[in-house]
Amino acid sequence: MIKYIDIIAIILFVLYSLIFFKMNKKKKNKKKGLVKYIKVILVFLIIIGMIHVLASIGHKENKEEGKTTTTTNEVVTNDIEESTTTEVTITSTTTTARNTSGTFAKINHDLSGSEDRGKTSKGYSIQVKNGITYIDGYMVANKTYSLPSSFNPGKLDSVVSSAADKMFAAAKSEKGYKMWAQSGFRSYSTQESIYNRYVSNDGKANADTYSARPGNSEHQTGLAFDVCSDDKPCITSGFNSTPQAKWLSENAWKYGFILRYVEGKTDETGYKYESWHFRYVGSELAEKLYNNGNWITMESYFGFDSKYKD
Ligand SMILES: [Zn+2]
Repeated sequence: MIKYIDIIAIILFVLYSLIFFKMNKKKKNKKKGLVKYIKVILVFLIIIGMIHVLASIGHKENKEEGKTTTTTNEVVTNDIEESTTTEVTITSTTTTARNTSGTFAKINHDLSGSEDRGKTSKGYSIQVKNGITYIDGYMVANKTYSLPSSFNPGKLDSVVSSAADKMFAAAKSEKGYKMWAQSGFRSYSTQESIYNRYVSNDGKANADTYSARPGNSEHQTGLAFDVCSDDKPCITSGFNSTPQAKWLSENAWKYGFILRYVEGKTDETGYKYESWHFRYVGSELAEKLYNNGNWITMESYFGFDSKYKD
């Protein structure tokens, strides 16, 4: 915005100068005219200077607001982790054999020998294998369904990182956005130490409002990650209003990802809106949950809840 003001100012300055010198040539008292000219230019420069000062104050306020949001938000998301977050390196790995029917196919977990736990309220199968719950074949980790401490894929699933590569490449080529997965896989023990630290600092009841208990974080699945963009607030509510967040919300489904913690659906997901947290489900389900821009949660679609038992 401020750039345009400067460009307009320069154009006006040149125009005024041209007109003035053309008119002044004809005048008898050239000196008087020149003084008037300098006065007008000075007033003009003062106005431009004031616009710049006002704009920089506004910018500072915005920045400080952002800072506050960051601090506040550190205690309201379930994405809290050590401040020394390392960027998750996503490399194009060849998609596994599981990814058979297209680039962004559903991950078909081997559920042979799983235990049948009935159906969800909407009639989808609930199966448990090695302590992991699968609903309609999709791995689930929320406040109701936890993962065992032994489940440690160690990194993002290769199908997921491959799809993420394509999504980030599309964001770059379509819009010039530089985005990446800042936080991907998080182990049970990492989540445990994070959660315990919050409990000891803040009490269990408070910690539960912003930090996932060990086993209940979707980051342990290796199917979810948090997105950051180079010049935008990272993993805080400050990201919500960015064009990058908008692009992700409108396009992630094409790459098999869902916006997991939808705005205004805390009652369903158990978590506040997280414009940066995406989870892989494959294109077919992602498109259904995208619902032409009116995101549906996994909980609502399949008919299960996300609540701690105690
Ligand atoms: Zn997350």
